[in-house]
Amino acid sequence: MTGLNNKKNINKIQRYLDKNYPNVECELNFTNNLELLIAVLLSAQCKDEYVNRATVNLFRDFKTIDDYAEASVNDIEEYIRSLGLYKAKSKNIKLLAEMLRDNYNYIIPTTREELIKLPGVGRKTANVVMSVGFDIPTIAVDTHVERISKRLGLAEDKDTPLTVEKKLMSIFPKKNWSKIHHQLIHFGRYKCKAKKPECLNCELKDICKYNKLGD
Ligand code: SF4
Repeated sequence: MTGLNNKKNINKIQRYLDKNYPNVECELNFTNNLELLIAVLLSAQCKDEYVNRATVNLFRDFKTIDDYAEASVNDIEEYIRSLGLYKAKSKNIKLLAEMLRDNYNYIIPTTREELIKLPGVGRKTANVVMSVGFDIPTIAVDTHVERISKRLGLAEDKDTPLTVEKKLMSIFPKKNWSKIHHQLIHFGRYKCKAKKPECLNCELKDICKYNKLGD
């Protein structure tokens, strides 16, 4: 960085996020960890607000692991047709439910190693489920977290999401990992957007690579 090891910059970023996003949470709607898992899986390459619209009826009609496991892929597709990749997601949801029924005794695993064995569940999804569902500190690196980390010099442009995750975990204290994840997502969704970020009055512009490049 400019600031990868610059404590002053890191403190400034944390203070800014705490001031502007003090109590941010996951914006997906869910009432239990099965719904959380399904919603996070559905949110891949899809906005949370679209997922929330689709899950109103899905979660009304599918309550249990058996409901998904015993449904046909076509049945599930009908509920999520409005979402990108709905065919693959429907197939994965059914397979995932069958696996939870057959291999996990209907219990959603709490470890990353087990979660990523479930169809359609990658590291990012596993991290969100661990953090939001089980209160285990993780930093899930989605497109917003990756973009902002690079703009603010917390990671380098060439870094993979996994490298970004590791760098963020080394920069921020473990107790803040889950909070930072949500704060960066909100910052990315509503201010430091991919296109046309609101740089004019951004308090982080003096440490922002993107702003300095004048993109
Ligand atoms: S100056 Fe612009 S690009 Fe940089 S962090 Fe602020 S909003 Fe994002």
